[in-house]
Amino acid sequence: MKNRQFYSFIRRQVLVMVGLSLGPGLGYILLGYLYDALAVTASWYGLILISSTWGYWLYRSYNFDEMTPDSLHSWYQQVSYLFYTMFTLWTVVFILIVSRTEYDLHYVAIFTQIGSSVVSSTLLFSDRRLFIPTIAIVVVPLILYFASIGEWYSYVLTVFAMVFWWVLYYASNSSYKLLQKTYIQSSRDQLTGMYNRAFFIDAMEHTINSVRKTRGYCCLILIDLDYFKTINDSLGHDIGDVLLKEVADRMTDAIPDNAIAARMGGDEFIVISPTSSSRESCTENAIEMAEKLRKELKRTYQIDRHHLHISASIGVSVIHNPDSRANKYIKEADIAMYEVKDKGRDGVILFTDDVAQRVEKELEMERLLHFSLEKGEIHLNFQPQVNSELNIVGCEVLVRWKNPKLGNVPPSLFIPIAEKTGLIIEIGKFVIEESLKTLCDWKKKGVVLEQLAINVSMRQFFDHSFSNEIKKLCEQYLDGEQIKTIILELTESSMAEELERLIDTMNDLRSYGLSFSIDDFGTGYSSLGYLRKVPLDEVKIDRSFVSELLEDQNSQVMIETIIHIAQVFGLKVVAEGVETEEQKNFLLKNKCDLLQGYLFSKPVTKDEFETLFLQQTITH
Ligand code: C2E
Ligand code: CA
Ligand code: CA
Repeated sequence: MKNRQFYSFIRRQVLVMVGLSLGPGLGYILLGYLYDALAVTASWYGLILISSTWGYWLYRSYNFDEMTPDSLHSWYQQVSYLFYTMFTLWTVVFILIVSRTEYDLHYVAIFTQIGSSVVSSTLLFSDRRLFIPTIAIVVVPLILYFASIGEWYSYVLTVFAMVFWWVLYYASNSSYKLLQKTYIQSSRDQLTGMYNRAFFIDAMEHTINSVRKTRGYCCLILIDLDYFKTINDSLGHDIGDVLLKEVADRMTDAIPDNAIAARMGGDEFIVISPTSSSRESCTENAIEMAEKLRKELKRTYQIDRHHLHISASIGVSVIHNPDSRANKYIKEADIAMYEVKDKGRDGVILFTDDVAQRVEKELEMERLLHFSLEKGEIHLNFQPQVNSELNIVGCEVLVRWKNPKLGNVPPSLFIPIAEKTGLIIEIGKFVIEESLKTLCDWKKKGVVLEQLAINVSMRQFFDHSFSNEIKKLCEQYLDGEQIKTIILELTESSMAEELERLIDTMNDLRSYGLSFSIDDFGTGYSSLGYLRKVPLDEVKIDRSFVSELLEDQNSQVMIETIIHIAQVFGLKVVAEGVETEEQKNFLLKNKCDLLQGYLFSKPVTKDEFETLFLQQTITH
């Protein structure tokens, strides 16, 4: 429990002790001169001078920020010896004086001895290892002195001195306990009893110093629980609190004694590993510890009647560079932790230069994406969809981003960033407006489609103005017949949240004339349940089933089942990613309504699409 404040407090006491010894000690030199004992008292004062110099040196050599835990420990050890020595010296002078026959001198000695005992109990109450022995060193000789007089009054004084001893002990001990309690309160997290953030940062700064001194390594492990908020929101804060306590207990049990774990706040925890002399062993141990934590935290929690499951995203950073502060490493571990979240949570990632570069690149992409619309870098491609006669009857709109610096960035890279930053709302609106303009333009050129599919992200769909915006744009560019050809593709995996609101908005837009398709069908979960609840018009079989169709019996069964279920629910079926004749034949044999894939055409520009479409009308 020794921290910066504790050491600084003790350090000040060293100076006070030196002052209290040097000043009143002079009084004994005067007495020695008057009572013909100058040689003895002067030699005694010489010892006081020597120990005071030692004390001053200890006072000066203290520097919390520069000292390693080991050097701090040995400094403190020396300070303890200093206090023992100085109180022993005061006891020595007491014994010297009371062994003389001049009784008036005894009064002085008794008084200084009582004074010393009060000094030891008031100066040193912050550590039992200091106040218990020093009070004894001073008071025991006093008791023995009274007892040795052998008179009635002296026996009474002996008892008084014992009571006095007990009072001093009691007073110091009470202050000590109070100090401990406030210390624990200020360094611990109230809910879990783990160390808190402030304590951790302090301890960490100190570890960094020691790493710097020893040129060693140590690791920081940042743990963030996945979906804790959902548990908190759905089951209530009481359950959430119990869960956090259980998490804290498991964590404390899983780490070695010389590692420090703390709760940073919310559902975020942090651990600092013991130091190590090589980078390899340090990271190896840290990752092992992180994996152990991950597994421990994943075990089922039984709280009240609930069986809860929770996972953790864990980032690890290595502390080595001597010039950096705690915050830098916390930030690095944070970046690694967010990588885990990005990659689907429940994992451990070590912060490396690669990770830093990836994050840097993503930030760069994010920055450039901000200006992509106004700089005209976003445009659309259209991929034909063909019917069972292989005629182009529709298309899917696919967004493209061409940046002078980054080149062609695939949507699989920039759409997630756009979703994360909210830029998807603007980009999505642009895609819709451009698609509708194109549709309007095509009508004039005789390109009339049965359907035009537009991808819509959930974040975009849940934007409060989405419904009105799309209706407004439809009114602006399309007639009633064309509105009916618009089909919005939503991705199954992202449909889980806010199902009620999703269904309401879908119903509203469907009554306006728009249709809905469920994209990447079969890759999410609870598909059947959704098909029953969500008002859909079409199902899109995911590319992965189509591509594995010929090698994998399961994919065949899956496709047959999806088509069958879709028929039961009265939904149209589109297969995407059709690349071979065999795939096409299998799908058509199973009565798939529409096909889309490289076999027919890659996504093409607006003009190319027009040509493709018009060619087929000519050939037919
Ligand atoms: P998706 O909606 O599943 O789109 C189909 C993807 O499969 C497209 O990739 C398309 O080029 C590709 N594809 C089509 N046929 C074949 C084939 O035969 N073989 C192979 N290997 N691939 C084929 P793309 O254009 O890179 O789009 C990737 C994803 O980006 C899309 O997946 C969609 O989720 C998202 N996306 C694209 N445009 C938009 C958009 O305007 N808004 C939103 N929110 N997302 C979009
Ligand atoms: Ca799609
Ligand atoms: Ca898809």
